[in-house]
Amino acid sequence: MSYEIVAVRYGTVRSHKSELFYRYQAYGEPDASQDMDFFFYVLRRGDEVIVVDTGFRPAAAAPRGRECLTAPAEALARLGIDPARVSRLLITHMHWDHIGNVELFEAAELVVSTAELEFWSQPIARNVQFWAHVDPEGVALLEAAWRAGRVTATGERHDVSPGLRAITVGGHSPGQQILVVETASGEVVLASDAVHLYEELELERPFGVIVSLPEMCEAYALLKEMASAGATIVPGHDPLVAARYPDLGGDAAGLAFQIA
Ligand SMILES: [Zn+2]
Repeated sequence: MSYEIVAVRYGTVRSHKSELFYRYQAYGEPDASQDMDFFFYVLRRGDEVIVVDTGFRPAAAAPRGRECLTAPAEALARLGIDPARVSRLLITHMHWDHIGNVELFEAAELVVSTAELEFWSQPIARNVQFWAHVDPEGVALLEAAWRAGRVTATGERHDVSPGLRAITVGGHSPGQQILVVETASGEVVLASDAVHLYEELELERPFGVIVSLPEMCEAYALLKEMASAGATIVPGHDPLVAARYPDLGGDAAGLAFQIA
């Protein structure tokens, strides 16, 4: 049995390519505006509900110039999901906009890569070049959950369940994961921040937040290989996702989009 995937668009920011891409001036092209949206995902299969990432805390958005369109807790309510009853929460990486509301998922098994958990608990992570990308409250919550034995810490490849695999690619964050999901319309890869924008993958132009440039480029190669084998790649922050996939309508109009 395959998964159904819904992308939930809860935030947005207006920006420019020169602010988003790594060393954009290297391309010798004029700057252009580039918006980014913020998503998390809901995977359903029968009674099973898995949530992928938890969005940002609304209070953490304004100081960073990001607009919260719908608070993630409210978004879940509009989709009829009680976070306390979600069985699994997959965290693709621990940046601020992916771990903001973890406390809502009281009963969930958390799935996070070992590389990510270990990196953010080391003193080096406190360097502002890294620490600026996290919400310390979320990191503390995940570390506490890890100590309490609620976290499944994954290696390079981890079969979460039949039809759902997490692969650690690094690059953007030390333990950045992508998720390969079997759906009725074939394999869908939720790239999360391994690819923020479609253009990033098409042109292989690294995004500006990097811990390993070679790993980021290797992740592009892996994703392109998956795409040529027939998989659909869904980038983590591209407003085109909401344009390309059907709007669920109803209470979730403009908020939730059916990926598969
Ligand atoms: Zn990120």
